[in-house]
Amino acid sequence: MGKKLVLIGGGHAHMVTLANLSSLIANGHQVTVVGPSEQHYYSGMGPGMLGETYSPETIRFATRKVVEKQGGTFVLDAVSRIDPLGKKLRLASGATLEYDVLSCNAGSQVTQSAISGNREDIFSVKPIESLQAAQKRLLELAAGGRSRIAIVGGGPSSAEVAGNIHQLMYRHGLQPPKISIFSGPAFMKRFPAKVVDLVRKSLERRGIEIVAGSYVREVTSGRLELADGRSHQADLIFLAVGVKPSPIFADSGLPVGPEGGLLVNRFLQSPAHPEIFGGGDCIYFQDSPLDKVGVYAVRENPVLFHNLLVSLEGGELQPFAPGGDYLLIFNLGDGEGVLHKGWLTFGGRPAFILKDYIDRQFMRRFQAMEQD
Ligand SMILES: Cc1cc2nc3c(=O)[nH]c(=O)nc-3n(C[C@H](O)[C@H](O)[C@H](O)COP(=O)(O)OP(=O)(O)OC[C@H]3O[C@@H](n4cnc5c(N)ncnc54)[C@H](O)[C@@H]3O)c2cc1C
Repeated sequence: MGKKLVLIGGGHAHMVTLANLSSLIANGHQVTVVGPSEQHYYSGMGPGMLGETYSPETIRFATRKVVEKQGGTFVLDAVSRIDPLGKKLRLASGATLEYDVLSCNAGSQVTQSAISGNREDIFSVKPIESLQAAQKRLLELAAGGRSRIAIVGGGPSSAEVAGNIHQLMYRHGLQPPKISIFSGPAFMKRFPAKVVDLVRKSLERRGIEIVAGSYVREVTSGRLELADGRSHQADLIFLAVGVKPSPIFADSGLPVGPEGGLLVNRFLQSPAHPEIFGGGDCIYFQDSPLDKVGVYAVRENPVLFHNLLVSLEGGELQPFAPGGDYLLIFNLGDGEGVLHKGWLTFGGRPAFILKDYIDRQFMRRFQAMEQD
């Protein structure tokens, strides 16, 4: 007898499951995917979309189309609560959904706690859709002669956003804006010195300023306050302050990790509720906590799909092995990149070309699911 499988989110960790929905449905199972958008954007190409290297269509998957084409149900909504005892989901619209097996790929969100008061012209780097709105506003402001941009956050996404804003203005023949990154105590402090140096030099060559030494305490429309008492005026502010897992697990009282991610064992399974699985940024992998990078979400795919199948039909669960070091390439705009893996680090155009090639291949592979 068929079972009810519900997927929360159609993100990076669900790609293989989404590609195989028709086989689950052919075996008599009902599959429902819930998501707040009919498309899913590939974040690795988000900064490139901001800089107009890519169109929005190039970097997104048609989630609803892929689900419905295979006989599944797509529900345009967001999950707000999980009731693990009743095996039910409550949605933002107030509707409820029952499941036998649940898979969570609800991603992560940029922390908004620094914002106070007016939010006009403040954008965050996630969801990736917000980069589209920011792009439109950047061009409007620059055309009106207002182009002081502040980016709050000292990680790679702030560097990628800064470099791609520079590229966007250059492409439109607009005056280069004054772009300042407020990195907190140190810029890209998680990364080796050589990587930081290459990124810094690439940005500074294009006049992008990095302000380090103090956290940003408060952000309001048009202004930043630093913890050391300094303040800074800006026409547009980006928040790139790092991400936290979706709050739905902590809100539902499920066992979670320190930041609120769904606690999962080596089978990507909630130890307290074995019919609940998860992958990507929204989980806390008990055995060895993982960085919030798409690489892990992508690596989890086959194991997550296998274990969902086993939960529906029986068999032996597979453990997830995170694997070794992963390749990082940052797209710094204007055709420049920085690549890092293990002992290998280099910057410039070759790094960008390689990232562009890998990202386009990834998209091609999964966009193929959309074809009739
Ligand atoms: C600007 C930027 C650039 C990045 N570049 C890279 C890179 O080059 N390489 C790399 O490895 N990593 C990169 N990352 C990190 C990467 O974005 C994340 O690790 C990756 O997105 C995690 O994938 P995910 O599927 O878990 O989450 P997400 O991509 O956030 O997807 C989650 C999905 O769940 C849906 N959802 C959210 N809440 C709900 C809800 N309540 N109910 C139902 N559905 C919901 C969302 O709509 C979305 O479709 C980048 C991040 C940013 C911000």
